[in-house]
Amino acid sequence: MADCGCGGSCKEKVLFACSGAADVGELSDKVARKLRKDGFGKMSCLIGIGAKLDSFLQTAKNSNTIVIDGCSVNCGKKAVEAAGIAANIITLTEMGMEKGKTPVNDELVNKTAESIKKSFE
Ligand code: SF4
Repeated sequence: MADCGCGGSCKEKVLFACSGAADVGELSDKVARKLRKDGFGKMSCLIGIGAKLDSFLQTAKNSNTIVIDGCSVNCGKKAVEAAGIAANIITLTEMGMEKGKTPVNDELVNKTAESIKKSFE
């Protein structure tokens, strides 16, 4: 794709959630699915980036890639950086969630998804 100078914002959004074992990792997964359901963007598999599988790497390189990490360990951010992929990084613990003390429910999933949408307006 030719560089149009938009910095990636005109490309299709593709969401990669850390989907970690912690409550905030679970939240990252559910929020990504909610955003996909709402038509905000597509979803792809972060583990495909970690495994350095070509189809996943190409998808991320050719998209407006958004990583949703549950916490400041930032596994997703580190995975895309290691693959040389530029991405928007969202870290849920920087949005007020506390690892180990976050009840994952529909209300929080919806609220978090709306906040992420607004941050891209
Ligand atoms: S970013 Fe945090 S919640 Fe997500 S997989 Fe890594 S350690 Fe787990």
